[in-house]
Amino acid sequence: MTDIIDGNEVAAEVRAGLADGIETLKAEGTTPGLATVLMSDDPASETYVSMKQRDCEEVGINGIHVEIDAGASAEKLFDTIDDLNADEDVHGILVQMPVPKHVDKRRVLRAIKPVKDVDGFHPENVGRMVAGNALYKPCTPHGIQKLLEAYDVETEGAEAVVVGRSDIVGKPMTNLLIQKAPMGNATTTVCHSRTQDLEGHLREADIVVAAAGVPELVTGDMLKEGSTVIDVGINRVDADTEKGYELVGDVEFESAKEVAGKITPVPGGVGPMTRAMLLYNTVKAAGIQSDVTVNL
Ligand code: NDP
Repeated sequence: MTDIIDGNEVAAEVRAGLADGIETLKAEGTTPGLATVLMSDDPASETYVSMKQRDCEEVGINGIHVEIDAGASAEKLFDTIDDLNADEDVHGILVQMPVPKHVDKRRVLRAIKPVKDVDGFHPENVGRMVAGNALYKPCTPHGIQKLLEAYDVETEGAEAVVVGRSDIVGKPMTNLLIQKAPMGNATTTVCHSRTQDLEGHLREADIVVAAAGVPELVTGDMLKEGSTVIDVGINRVDADTEKGYELVGDVEFESAKEVAGKITPVPGGVGPMTRAMLLYNTVKAAGIQSDVTVNL
């Protein structure tokens, strides 16, 4: 029987696990605060940000939302970030990507104070993670580690294949998997659009993390029997539904679940974990900034 990895359930456990920490912080006079900044008219970005705000409310984190007109100057965004950096009630800052083309994305990542960078994308935080000393692990790969842990997937000595080398998923995932640390120690191969023989690599993999953004790229016949398959992809494809589309992952779920030992669905796999780990990082950030020890 294939185990369907339930991201909603594990995410609920992560959220529940934050309650003590939030209580401790509040008893010391600190309510963890997360600021989300949206500079975009993209409905998907609007949805992501409002979900993050709802999540904050649910666990008792103070959500602060700032919207900036997509046509406003880049300086307006940088001034906002400066204000949030200085605001002692704000412990985490998240600028929803993508930002408009006239804004330098790398400058945005550098502008957020590293201690408030709960996405973990500031160059200083990326460096710390690579060195095995992360302040905040990026939410999606960290959430994947939590899923693997919750389902007793052994990473040590496993052959892992990460499909995709983006800065937000593929690279940090690879980094965490190769670290000499719990939920690391895997022998890890990274595949991307120039990889010659994706199937050949996948067939050897005990653990597959698919993060290519290509609908149903990975099919059951490419997988090793009994492997663990983590599907990060969220792709909208045309479908005969009320909305006119449906969401599919980077893995063809139906064929893959016949071969895999454990597999995440889309939706309900990695997505809820990404959201939960943002809350986790915010609570951690509040602890660091208020000098209160929180058990996470
Ligand atoms: P990017 O587009 O930034 O990166 C995609 C990566 O996949 C690139 O490295 C690209 O290679 C590689 N790739 C593309 N096509 C192929 C192919 N045919 N074979 C092998 N590799 C390929 O995407 P992201 O990392 O930002 O996101 C990936 C997916 O995950 C998307 O569907 C996104 O929506 C989803 N996502 C889901 C999250 C969640 O919480 N569930 C969070 C973040 C993302 P190259 O570098 O050569 O171009």
